[in-house]
Amino acid sequence: MPLVDSHCHLQDEKFDADRADVMARSLDALDWLVIIGDDLPTSRAGVALVSDRIYAAVGVHPYYAATVDDACIDDLRTLAANERVVAIGEIGLDYFKYNDTPRDVQAVGFRRQLDLAVELNLPVVIHNREAFDDTASILEEYAPQLSGGVMHCFAGSTDFAEQVLSWGFYISFAGNVTFPKAEDLRTAARVVPMDRLLVETDAPYLAPQAVRGKRCEPGYVRHTAEYLAEFYGVSYEDLSQRTAENAADLFNISS
Ligand SMILES: [Zn+2]
Repeated sequence: MPLVDSHCHLQDEKFDADRADVMARSLDALDWLVIIGDDLPTSRAGVALVSDRIYAAVGVHPYYAATVDDACIDDLRTLAANERVVAIGEIGLDYFKYNDTPRDVQAVGFRRQLDLAVELNLPVVIHNREAFDDTASILEEYAPQLSGGVMHCFAGSTDFAEQVLSWGFYISFAGNVTFPKAEDLRTAARVVPMDRLLVETDAPYLAPQAVRGKRCEPGYVRHTAEYLAEFYGVSYEDLSQRTAENAADLFNISS
């Protein structure tokens, strides 16, 4: 049965000791997965791991927005020429207290990478943390030119979910939607129709409740899919199939 992890970081150093085993387990459990970049080195490392059922996205996370200069954009463009690079990401804005990159620098890095996605006709994987208004105003502007996108690891209000849907974007839930205290997140999830829904792990982070506290790995997306199937009142088969089809549609992957 199809099941896809639309967002993981298998190049992360937390997998250095046993990456080959994790990748083998992931491909046993899943149809395919997408490895997402956070900066130039992790984008490069992600592209180095692509194979038959492993795809990559390249991009610079808002933490590292100050590194997005002309040379960086050129390097991302070169990496994106690989046919298994299916998106630009993760990119966006992050106003959480631990991010000391100034907001204007983040906005410039975000816009430059959105311009690259438009140029290359690639969809975008968006990271947003506590930056709803500014993320929305920038994406409102870019959405008509973009080849689609996903709000990854969704964490926001019902209003924000509706805004994201109005751009024609997908909304992706990670393991945190299964946490007992995630009531607000589940309230927002109520407005997401099945044809706009994706699931992801964000591995090695955010292991779902059933395996909480462990290092997360792509196969654990099953727990999130099972949880959401029950939440939406559909069968697990239906939810895993639909989310796999949606991810294939977003990333232009023909299975
Ligand atoms: Zn991520």
